[in-house]
Amino acid sequence: MQFFDRLLLENRAWADNMKASDPEIFERLHQGQSPSALWIGCCDSRVPAEQICNAKPGELFIHRNIANLVHEDDANVSSVLEYAIHALKVDHIIVCGHRGCGGIQAAVAGGDALQALPYVDKHLGQVKRLVAERKEELARFSRLSDKVDHVVELNVIAQVERLSSLPLVSDSWEARRAPSLHGWVYDLATGHLEEVYRREAEWADQNWQQAAAG
Ligand SMILES: [Zn+2]
Repeated sequence: MQFFDRLLLENRAWADNMKASDPEIFERLHQGQSPSALWIGCCDSRVPAEQICNAKPGELFIHRNIANLVHEDDANVSSVLEYAIHALKVDHIIVCGHRGCGGIQAAVAGGDALQALPYVDKHLGQVKRLVAERKEELARFSRLSDKVDHVVELNVIAQVERLSSLPLVSDSWEARRAPSLHGWVYDLATGHLEEVYRREAEWADQNWQQAAAG
């Protein structure tokens, strides 16, 4: 059987199983969606967002790109953010990176690894800048894989920071104290997720008060 034939067949099996455990599920989902969280993850085939946290259809609004990046000038991620915050009013935004990320590794390795992939190269520009800024810190690690995993964490933190500085997010914090921003890292070797960073509306209040006082 061809791979794509298998996928279509498996879809029917999946739909039957879903219906067997929750007979109303598709009628309910057909009515609309009200997900609690926006997930911004990497495209990597080994990090399937819903499966690794046992989320059901309708629970996560998902955007994935190589190395889970937020670009203000990228209409794709910006439109997803706008819709998730304004229309769906999600309570959480999760930025999920993963250890051993190929996108991060390409940015860390440098050289001409990305020469044949100009779109990927352009997309990873901000990771390459992050690597250049943290050059001394990264020199501590002798193994490339340790360096990559450290940048995976730094990158997740940088994306959460970037989100916290967007007017879309700060306006929503002021209006309804949400969404909270979570930076997570997934470990391919164990299948475990961990939170490495978090930002909430209260943090912004303190910073704005300090800025006003100072
Ligand atoms: Zn990746």
